[in-house]
Amino acid sequence: MNYTTDFKSIRAEVSAQEWQARVDLAACYRLVDKYGMTDLIYNHITARIPGSKDHLLINLYGMLYKEITASSLVKIDIEGEIIWKPETDYGINKSGYVIHGAIHKARPDVACVLHTHTRAGIAVSAMKCGLLPLSQTAIRFVGHIGYHDYEGPAVDLDERERIVSDLGPHDALVMRNHGLLTCGATIQQAFNTMYQLELSCRSQVDAMAARTELVMPGENVLAHTAHLYQPGTRRPYGVLEWPAMLRLLEAEDRHSGYPPYWH
Ligand SMILES: [Zn+2]
Repeated sequence: MNYTTDFKSIRAEVSAQEWQARVDLAACYRLVDKYGMTDLIYNHITARIPGSKDHLLINLYGMLYKEITASSLVKIDIEGEIIWKPETDYGINKSGYVIHGAIHKARPDVACVLHTHTRAGIAVSAMKCGLLPLSQTAIRFVGHIGYHDYEGPAVDLDERERIVSDLGPHDALVMRNHGLLTCGATIQQAFNTMYQLELSCRSQVDAMAARTELVMPGENVLAHTAHLYQPGTRRPYGVLEWPAMLRLLEAEDRHSGYPPYWH
């Protein structure tokens, strides 16, 4: 089997828009790895190719997130059918794409969908209380997060509809007994939201494990604060943060032994 991960650059073969989406999505995979949000080779981050009609990018199933490069990403249509992939025996995980496909189909405002199985995310997903407004970081999700009950690993067509309706207009979803999902108008924004949601979950697990009485701000403060932290209120997220994230990756990729994400 050809499971090598040294892919030739396809920069000259795709549009400038597609190449940019590939570079940003590959960087997003690396950042999710860097911040400890991976689960072996599992899960996906998908991104719509700007200027295309419902074409998306997804990872080859079997690669570590820290191995993913711009040229290794697979181009699929919204149903998950492969349009282009590099020469390799790796394919895509179609059943894993089902959740992403449902959201991309139902939410044209969404450019990127990110799903994780992290220790803290899974822990909070199993808590009856859900995500609590215990920190400034978590308060942004008050009234802006959905919950989807666990129905088993096989995602059928009915469940797709329930995932979409449980997500509603939000950019964050707690998948009960399973993990977390975020989406956004840009790759940068979906990553930023996932970073904040993951940090909120880690903080909640730590605070609850401390076995002391916890304080929470009053209702009036919560709604107002959540509003101020929405991407549309003051500024979109990811714009200021992303160049710094890329500088961080670039400096580290030089010494990592893995191909740079921008290849
Ligand atoms: Zn999952």
